Amino acid sequence: MRVFLASGNAKKIGEMQRILAEHVADIEVLGIGDIDGYVEPVEDQPTFEGNALLKARAGVAATGLPSIADDSGLCVDALNGMPGVLSARWSGPPKSDVRNNELLLAQLDDVPDERRGAHFTCAIAWVLPDGREHVVEGRMSGRIIREQRGSGGFGYDVVFVADEHSDEGLTSAELEPAEKDRISHRGRALRELAPTVAADLSGR
Ligand code: IMP
Repeated sequence: MRVFLASGNAKKIGEMQRILAEHVADIEVLGIGDIDGYVEPVEDQPTFEGNALLKARAGVAATGLPSIADDSGLCVDALNGMPGVLSARWSGPPKSDVRNNELLLAQLDDVPDERRGAHFTCAIAWVLPDGREHVVEGRMSGRIIREQRGSGGFGYDVVFVADEHSDEGLTSAELEPAEKDRISHRGRALRELAPTVAADLSGR
């Protein structure tokens, strides 16, 4: 049973394969690298859901396979929910996690501890060749600290402490990968979607 994941990120493809395999025994997740000449659509929608759907629909159009796509980002309370869908390119091109984190910390410099709340959101879209569509969203809530800590993860993990780890003050970049998967916006959304994927693929 093959599905297409509209991503070239090997870690995401592996994570998706692991979680879906718990529900569908013989599933194979193909990524962008498996499709010759795949052209990624421009992510120009104002919402995570809109971008995830756009990417999954493009996946179906290009491969004819049931397709999954995700879109995620960081929403900071003191910035009225930004960077949001602009998270990856918050400090402008070329994409740089280092510059994004430096800019975010500078923007929040004067913001007191009690107003440093933030959350990650991940929308995952599942689109079938017959036109059926399903979108789920997962969230990880926490706060932005005042310095960068940790060497794991990616993106804004070095400045983010999840509510689940606020006592120890561990950033998401200081968590074991399995612990991040357990509490992350992406892990939560994936686990919510997996039974729907299994049901649709087996015709139930
Ligand atoms: P994408 O949806 O994987 O392209 O992620 C968009 C951007 O959101 C990334 O480039 C990161 O800046 C940020 N982001 C999304 N998920 C995470 C996460 O789990 N940790 C840290 N940053 C993230």
